[in-house]
Amino acid sequence: MPESLVHFKGKIVSAKDANVNIMTHALHYGTAVFEGIRGNWNDDEQKMFVFRMHEHYVRLLQGAKMLMMDIPYSADDLCDITINLIQKSQYKQDLYIRPLVYKSEELVANLKLQELGSDFALMMVPFGAYLESDGALRCCTSSWRRVDDTIIPPRVKISGHYVNSILAKTEATLAGFDEAIMLTQDGYVSEGSGENLFLINQNTLVTPPVSDNNLTGITRDSAIKIAKEELGLQILERRIRRSELYFADEVFLTGTAAHIQSVGQLDNRDIGDGLPGKISTQINEVYQSAIRGNNSKYRNWCTEIEV
Ligand code: PMP
Repeated sequence: MPESLVHFKGKIVSAKDANVNIMTHALHYGTAVFEGIRGNWNDDEQKMFVFRMHEHYVRLLQGAKMLMMDIPYSADDLCDITINLIQKSQYKQDLYIRPLVYKSEELVANLKLQELGSDFALMMVPFGAYLESDGALRCCTSSWRRVDDTIIPPRVKISGHYVNSILAKTEATLAGFDEAIMLTQDGYVSEGSGENLFLINQNTLVTPPVSDNNLTGITRDSAIKIAKEELGLQILERRIRRSELYFADEVFLTGTAAHIQSVGQLDNRDIGDGLPGKISTQINEVYQSAIRGNNSKYRNWCTEIEV
């Protein structure tokens, strides 16, 4: 197992030496933004394929702007830092890559973003499946409503905002479900606790607009492109009512960690026949080949790294 290395305060150090002080602002208030990026190991080519890395860093920098965090790196610089850390770490397996920009000031009683300095850190860990399920997921509608853009903007990955996802995920899993589906304040379908949501009816793929308080998902965008270009489906971005989900032909979730996963049951009711949906499975097959560099058409979504 290679030593776990991180990029911390401008240097590559061992993870055990990358520590912050207990007074650190982000620890108290969730004043940080992060990303989850996958590095997919291709054994035949002996290379790491990092999926849509630049887009992840553009979203990270949008979150940083929201929280008035200045870091001295562009999206391209952050890609270079990531490539370097992957090469130094020498993992030859699938990775979860976690960049974090956080208010690093050791100053707890201050709520003025403009007065608080920031830092960047990057870590990576070996990673397999996120949602453990051989078949289709069993989901429930969460009793927790999705945080609204008027409260904390949910279109970027602000750390403090994840308490909302964590409450929903905890409630769902303690009740024996795999995942929670969250609704907006006014009762429209928003997304899973860590995934965007789609339904399929005949040849149409429907997904809620980002204005219904979901993350601007990169897997969401990939699934839309694959559905349009490979399967010729019609794509509709529109508000979705909870009850539509029970009667859809298929429902599926998308996310960097979760990949593309069919939902087989919602609130103990089967969706379709309760098995993984045919079309969602087809979208996932193309996606799985794309993320590992095995699909020439989508190879430009990946950054290839010799380890
Ligand atoms: N929604 C939420 C709340 C998430 O945390 C994630 C995971 N990043 C997603 C959706 C999916 O986004 P992406 O496809 O960019 O990973």
